[in-house]
Amino acid sequence: MTAFLNEPLLELRRASVRDELTATLAALDATLPLHVPIRIGEQDGGETGALVSVDPGRPDRVVALAASATAADADAAVAAAERGFARWGATTAAERAQTLTRAAAVLRARRARLAALIVREAGKPWEEADAEICEAIDFVEFYARQAIELEREPELLQLPGERNAMRYVPRGVVAVIAPWNFPVAISTGMVVAGLASGNAVVYKPSELTPACGGAVVDALREAGVPAEALSLLPGGDEPGAALVRHPGVHTIAFTGSCAVGLEIVRAAAEVAPGQRHLKRVVAEMGGKNCIVVDADADLDEVVPAAIRSAFGFAGQKCSAASRLLVHEALYETFAARLAGASEALLVDHAERFGIDLGPVVDAAAQERHRRAAALAAEQGTVLADGAALPGEGFFCSPTVVGELPPDSPLLSEEVFAPLLTVEPVASIAAACDAVDGSSFALTAGLFSRNPATVAEVTRRLPVGNLYVNRATTGAMVARQPFGGNRLSGTGTKAGGPGYLAAFVEPRAVCENTMRHGLVV
Ligand code: NAD
Repeated sequence: MTAFLNEPLLELRRASVRDELTATLAALDATLPLHVPIRIGEQDGGETGALVSVDPGRPDRVVALAASATAADADAAVAAAERGFARWGATTAAERAQTLTRAAAVLRARRARLAALIVREAGKPWEEADAEICEAIDFVEFYARQAIELEREPELLQLPGERNAMRYVPRGVVAVIAPWNFPVAISTGMVVAGLASGNAVVYKPSELTPACGGAVVDALREAGVPAEALSLLPGGDEPGAALVRHPGVHTIAFTGSCAVGLEIVRAAAEVAPGQRHLKRVVAEMGGKNCIVVDADADLDEVVPAAIRSAFGFAGQKCSAASRLLVHEALYETFAARLAGASEALLVDHAERFGIDLGPVVDAAAQERHRRAAALAAEQGTVLADGAALPGEGFFCSPTVVGELPPDSPLLSEEVFAPLLTVEPVASIAAACDAVDGSSFALTAGLFSRNPATVAEVTRRLPVGNLYVNRATTGAMVARQPFGGNRLSGTGTKAGGPGYLAAFVEPRAVCENTMRHGLVV
């Protein structure tokens, strides 16, 4: 295969590109609502409409009528996956890579429609929706290549009289449990990691984005992934929890909140009757991501990068910055500029080009933001909260808060909405102490011109992804392997070398090669 390269983004500055996307969205709208059945092997079933997804910007627009899978469906899907595994698990990595390369081509061919679906179902603005499709394609291309690498047997020490070998084999059935905020990219990444390494997958998308989940399965199956190797269980937590408990599941790939991730880790540790293996959990969870701003930082760089990190996709990226720790020497100037820039942000429907923020995903997220903003007003000083909002939909004003007491939950808990705290620190060491005091360790940012400070902060921060002198979001496959430490995740790195190791098991063989006489 050719060397891996990231998929290029669309050039949205070109009117022709924007026109094509707008036309694609109109064509998609004409087909709404989409129907998303349960797909177990060759069987499609379930009553579509049991689960409904809507446009977060216009909640009266129904995007999908989906079936809602039950625990019994999870049982049937695992049984199908066991059959699917017998066939798919026997293929070579090169054969699987060929199928996955075709899947990447399918995604590429329908990238405009998939981006339009994300705009509608997740309320994600075009620029980020397009980047998400590119990331999905990158995951497919990258893991296809990684699987081939993994199949090469590692070099072991060989001594006279013995032959040593080790190979990696797929574990069996992978349950993929996905969030709504990257409904195509993160789902594709986890599903394809399972498939590329030879496992069969049962995939449960988020209840908020079942149509995006259906589109991922469509693309992979059309490319030739056998139906029994990839089942789709749209639904809420019932099928997810049933998969986690199921004795036939070997690996659980989960991305979502810390609370659910911890529940999954606990439940997966139980050995169910009939289960003859330990389940492995790959969990990517939430964060409380800080940006540290040194006294010598260039505010012309920091302010836009902080705003992009905190308010891009309305603060709903797990990597989003939510806490700024600013050297006291420039705190006052910085806070004033940050507040002014935040007040000027454009909040509007996701399909409008050039907006800064679209809606948040649902009424619960809007309510979470409202409650956090009310607590901010009670405990601290609200520096910005005045954006004009569209009359309907789940919109929130980007909110900047200062002067919170050190024990405020707004400084330690993930809000997952556009709310950013800012506080002065006496030194970079004090900022590092604050970051190190968190139970989360997903992303962090640093703005400093001093190489010694960069080295010291790099040494001290426990986060999975540190970004220096740039925004904290937008990790690229193969360039910034992504994933958190501490309560932010199990330390696996999506889009990085070694990720597929979580989906396979090693088998070592030592053969005595001394002659013991002829076999007759
Ligand atoms: P969530 O935890 O509410 O849901 C995630 C998935 O888990 C959904 O499919 C849901 O139906 C399922 N689920 C819920 N309860 C379950 C249970 N008991 N057993 C099994 N499955 C269950 O998260 P969300 O709201 O979809 O996503 C937002 C969260 O995800 C945020 O906390 C964000 O930080 C995190 N996230 C992390 C990363 C990362 O890479 N670290 C990436 C994206 C999102």
